[in-house]
Amino acid sequence: MFFGGDPFEHFAHHGGGGSHRGPRRDVDTTKLYETLGVEKTATQPEIKKAYRKLAVKHHPDKGGDEHKFKEINAAYEILSDEEKRAKYDRHGLEGIDDHGGGDGGADIFDLFFGGGRQASRGPRRSEDVNHAIKVTLEDLYNGKTVKLAINREVLVGKPKMCRQCDGRGMRMELRQIGLGMVQQIQRHCASCRGEGYQCEKKRERKIVEVHVEKGMRHKDKITFRGMSDEKPNMQPGDVHFVVHEKEHDVFKRKGADLLITKNLSLKEALTGFAWRIKHLDGRSLIVASKPGEVIRANAANEKPYVKIVPNEGMPSRGNPFVKGNLYVLFTVKFPEDGELSAAALDSLRAHLPGPSSMDMEAQEEEEEVHLEVANIANFGRGGAQTQESAYDSDSDEGPQAVNCQQS
Ligand SMILES: [Zn+2]
Repeated sequence: MFFGGDPFEHFAHHGGGGSHRGPRRDVDTTKLYETLGVEKTATQPEIKKAYRKLAVKHHPDKGGDEHKFKEINAAYEILSDEEKRAKYDRHGLEGIDDHGGGDGGADIFDLFFGGGRQASRGPRRSEDVNHAIKVTLEDLYNGKTVKLAINREVLVGKPKMCRQCDGRGMRMELRQIGLGMVQQIQRHCASCRGEGYQCEKKRERKIVEVHVEKGMRHKDKITFRGMSDEKPNMQPGDVHFVVHEKEHDVFKRKGADLLITKNLSLKEALTGFAWRIKHLDGRSLIVASKPGEVIRANAANEKPYVKIVPNEGMPSRGNPFVKGNLYVLFTVKFPEDGELSAAALDSLRAHLPGPSSMDMEAQEEEEEVHLEVANIANFGRGGAQTQESAYDSDSDEGPQAVNCQQS
């Protein structure tokens, strides 16, 4: 089984021959450093510091140049990410895999080299293809290999240049739009469907082994270079399998950390507890309290009460021995009204810390009052309802609903 390293190296033989781009001979690997004004050996804190200074200086809101500002941000985005930085150091901007993302953001290459990309890259590439693969949290914890089929269009024989458009894929047409007025419009060539070349094509089904690495995350891509449709006079684009993490019944995941919830009785919260967890790799863990450990109830307006089991989260991609933490979000179930006997209460009163306020007696003119169950969402709705206040409260979700989202 294969884990870690650069998947591209591993899969290169799937790539359908010499279709992937090699590094350009004269790649530039200094421009980004110059943009931030740091040495190539700069540390992350140095890069960050340089970036902050420049970003403030060139911010468009403060009269800075927008293009310069974009360059600074793009340079920082790459150099602050060790993985991208390493790729840039080796292959220049060509090594940064920013195509096919479809985010509509400025193309980094164009940003720095003013649209010179097409010319410098040689043949165009056909479009990348994304396929979602659904993966369980167990598989992302343990790693997994799945065989999947890629259906693609491949060319049969050599493409011939289209005679209708001389290989340009476009044809100029003149159209009369009024008396003596002619409009020249450019259209896709119909006989080659804009490809400029004509070639016989066939469908091909190729089985590939997709390695889901330990610690991969939602939306991570597993890329097969040059495996999208072949088009005449173009390099085939890439096929990306995009990880879609399925929701898990027990564990919630954020980055490399996991979260579970645990309900304890008040007895357990005060006097101790132990329970079993079946982990994602099948191990059985017993989570036990330390002597004297108290789990506090989640008081209103407080952050959720959590503890962690260190290093029992997800493995890190590429470094599976470094794991995140397992968070436990506690809730404490208190006894119901009347559930505790008078004797039990006397005993508790004798042992629990803090003052006892039971003995207060009402003075003259004082009134003793009692409590009913309530919902904070109704706060403000008391009294005789006016039409305005009823209308206002419709849009209120109530603080309780908000509290629940904080984990
Ligand atoms: Zn044509």
